[in-house]
This record gives sequence, structure tokens and C-alpha cells, in this order.
Amino acid sequence: MPPLTEFQVLNAPVGTHLGENHIEFLQKLGKPTWINVTGKDQSRSRAIITLLHGNEPSGLKAVHRILKEAILPATNLVVVVASVSAALHPPILSHRYLPGEQDFNRCFKLPFDTNQRKLANDLLERLAVLSPEAIVDTHNTSAHSEAFAVAVDTHIPTQLLAQMFTKKLVVIDQKLGTLIENTNGVSPLVTVEFGGFMDPRADVLAYESLHRFATVTHLFNTEPVDGQLLEHPLRLEIEPSHNIHYSSSVQDDADLTVINTIDQLNFQEVAVNTNIGWLGRKKLAPLSAVNARGEDLIHEYFHDVSGFLTTKAAMTMFMATTDPFVARNDCLLYFKPHAS
Ligand SMILES: [Zn+2]
Repeated sequence: MPPLTEFQVLNAPVGTHLGENHIEFLQKLGKPTWINVTGKDQSRSRAIITLLHGNEPSGLKAVHRILKEAILPATNLVVVVASVSAALHPPILSHRYLPGEQDFNRCFKLPFDTNQRKLANDLLERLAVLSPEAIVDTHNTSAHSEAFAVAVDTHIPTQLLAQMFTKKLVVIDQKLGTLIENTNGVSPLVTVEFGGFMDPRADVLAYESLHRFATVTHLFNTEPVDGQLLEHPLRLEIEPSHNIHYSSSVQDDADLTVINTIDQLNFQEVAVNTNIGWLGRKKLAPLSAVNARGEDLIHEYFHDVSGFLTTKAAMTMFMATTDPFVARNDCLLYFKPHAS
């Protein structure tokens, strides 16, 4: 197979590529794909990006259903199915990215020197040429969570776009190499985390809201409503070489045991002196709490209380995972300290 550095382009109806269900669809696509759907108003376009992560299927299921219904979108619509190879790697839809490769949603940055980064650059260039009036990038969380949107600014169009999907908006300013950081403001753009990857409500929300996104005539002729806005969060990270367990009791060999129901704290207000896990021999040393400037504020927000990892300030947590792989390779959780 040639190196996958460009998207294959299909025009809807995608005919034999569609398949009976989202699995067949994925198998028939076989590679990263950009699908053009002609809409009512052909002077405008919108884009839906799915499967930047191969194990997050709600967006894929939704676009498969929308393409199968052969809807007439309000504007031209582009549907992108990205990490097809990772998603097809057996067992199907179980790999965030291929073993030995990088997280594709960390590849949207220079240098574009690997196949994955060239593919990321191809997507950025295509989106720049298309210049859609809005882009939505669909994800699922690795643990239980309510749906939320992630953006890199709080401009009114960004807020309006986010509110088509959820009233929770997280604004990140860490530079991670994600798609949303690197489209150079070509279009209002949000990532939507529809909920846990096996939560049926996430699939329902993805289908209903993406259908509306594709068919509503105007996205921006209203005012944002009040919602939960979380700006400038920090990331709680552990050095990837350390071992982390999720359990309801301490694991003696672990560098960190996180309480395995931590995802119940997602979007909850967490009080000062809440225990979220047990520290290992190295105590807080493998942990960091990084802000947008790359400063480590671990000792400002967490402390060791009799061997527990304990909050040192009131905060709202979100994106707390219960997956040790995600915790080590991305982060344990994001948190926004409350103003004191
Ligand atoms: Zn994701």
C-alpha cells in the first residue's frame, strides 16, 4: 500500500462505499477519506471531521447514517473520516492510533515529516482552500462524561457553534498539535466530545446535533446563551515511564493509584482536600500540572496527605480518564481552579 499522506476524495452519494453499517462503511473506505456532499446553497460549506482517534465512533456512526439518508444539506458539506487504518486495526474501533504511530490529533504541527504529519498537513491545506463557514471535529471521551465542546477562543461564532452541541465549552491554550489549534482561524471550529465512547447517548447526541449542523440554514444568526465556560485549564500529567493503576484500593507496586470512579467527578466542583488517589514511593515527583506557559504548578494545586494525592484548592475537573494508556500518554485529567 502506498504511504497514506493524502486523503482519497469521494463525491456523495458514495454508492458502494456506504455499506450497511458504520463498520462496513469503514471497511469499504479503507483509507483516510474526504467526502463532498452538494448542498442547497453551494456558495457556502461546512465540514464534519470524524475519527481523528480510531476508537471514538459516535461521529462516524452519525455521518454514516446522515450519508445513508441522503439528506440535502443547507450548504455544501464535507465529511472527513480520518484514522481509518487505526480504526480498522483489529479488534475494530479499539485503537486510538496504530501501535508504533503517533496520536494523529498531535500531528497538526511542523515539521510535516512523517506520513501521519503529511496527512495532517493535507487536511489543513484542504480545509484552508475550502474555507468552510464552520468545522466540527467529533470525539468521544475515554471515560464517562457529559458532552462538552473544546475550542481555542471565545469568539461569538465559536460559542454559537459549540452551543449547537452542548452548553459546556472548554477553552484550551496548551500547544499540543491538535487540529483545532492549527487551522489558522480559517473557520469557526470546535471539537465536540459527545460523551463516553460506549455511551449510547453519545451516539444519539452526535446524530441529532450533526444532522442539525448540516441542515439548518444559518448557524450564526442568534446570540449565545449562558453556559458553563472553562478557560485556561491545567493538565495533570504523569511521566509516561511510570506505572499507574485505576482501582478502589491502593496498588502497592504503582507509582500512582487513581480512584477508579474519578470520572464521576467530571464537570463536578471538587472541594479542597479531596483525595483522588494514592501516591507511590516517588510521591508527587512523577506528576506535573502544566499551564499554557508550560509552568508546572503541581505543588500549588495538589499535595501529599498521608500518602493520598489530594487537591490543595477547589477546582472543576473534566476529561478525567480511567484508562491508564490515555493517562500516561496524554494526561490524567484537566482542571480549572476556582478563583480564591
Ligand atoms: Zn479523541
